[in-house]
Amino acid sequence: MKFNTKAIHGGQKPDKAFSSVMPPIYQTSTYAQAQPGKHKGYAYSRTHNPTRHALESAFASLENGKFGLAFGSGLAAIDAVLKLLKPYDEVISTSDLYGGTYRLFTNIYKDFGIKFHFVNMEEAMSIENYVTSKTKLIWIETPTNPMMNIIDIEVIADIAKKHSILFAIDNTFATPYLQTPLDLGADIVMHSATKYLGGHSDVIMGALVVNDEELAKQLYFIQNASGAICGPQDAFLVLRGIKTLAVRMQRHCENGAAIAKYLASHSNVKDVYWPGFDNHPNHTVAKSQMKDYGGMVSFTLISETYETAIKVLENLRVFTLAESLGGVESLVGHPASMTHGSIPKKDRESLGIVDSLIRLSVGIEDKEDLIEDLEQALDF
Ligand SMILES: *Cc1c(COP(=O)(O)O)cnc(C)c1O
Repeated sequence: MKFNTKAIHGGQKPDKAFSSVMPPIYQTSTYAQAQPGKHKGYAYSRTHNPTRHALESAFASLENGKFGLAFGSGLAAIDAVLKLLKPYDEVISTSDLYGGTYRLFTNIYKDFGIKFHFVNMEEAMSIENYVTSKTKLIWIETPTNPMMNIIDIEVIADIAKKHSILFAIDNTFATPYLQTPLDLGADIVMHSATKYLGGHSDVIMGALVVNDEELAKQLYFIQNASGAICGPQDAFLVLRGIKTLAVRMQRHCENGAAIAKYLASHSNVKDVYWPGFDNHPNHTVAKSQMKDYGGMVSFTLISETYETAIKVLENLRVFTLAESLGGVESLVGHPASMTHGSIPKKDRESLGIVDSLIRLSVGIEDKEDLIEDLEQALDF
């Protein structure tokens, strides 16, 4: 099955009870048993819920994986992966990392005796220098937030395989429409389904997809034992969102490209970070591992002051200033004061997150309206 078809039918069959085309919302905590332990495969909704199962099958289908798991948030999904580890285990990760992931690693799991190495993953080969006999997990994002760096997934997968290390990738920015990391050798794909998979800024949800049965068993055990599941109503919303993922992504990519090119030609704009440009440092890798370049675009201003950036944000009318990304509506964020505000200024700037950096999650509105909005906001 190809992607558009999978987005609509993947892992889903008409419901057994009344053949409803959409899976019903099984809003129940428990299920009647004929005798103790004799039931239809569903005993308690933390462990099993038919609406969640339909969504988990859809996740697996989209990522070309065998097993899908849904969680109450993206961070709950990452948390479940970290629970595969034991004290003294080591993790190698990117320095360009979603802030919440960094906080979970360093403020919670570090205290449980897990050691984290953060490396500059643009030089993918350098990660091998950090591998020790205790390295159990490599965790990456690509494209990265907010600098839009691209990491060669196959190169990292080869290093991970060579040393028998689990390789997990946060595929939130790309979505399975743009890249399917399991096909490139990753062991675990993670999503904040809050973003593009849900797609409508109305739900918080996380996902994991794996191929290995033993790994899946361990993760299902953690999902049930720790209990960070999502509810059936949210599962339904994300199932509905996924049906339009392919068409939304087409428009996100089209609008993202138009806006990146427009910004690059603007006299008040300094740098534009978008992997579709020929001169993007990782353009060749992006071109080979991604189907298109997505709807995330970051840029800096000629005027480098914090005040000018804030003025541009205040001037925008169609773009809404808000945390998050990946919804149908265009959002704008200021990484230096929002997502990366807790990182000391010097460290932040060494990653490229200067005061004038603005991040756009380009939505699926008419691109002419989005460009007109940017035009008036950049007139300073
Ligand atoms: C939002 C996000 C997360 C965290 O997901 P939640 O659903 O907010 O818990 C993780 N990784 C990336 C790349 C994100 O954008």
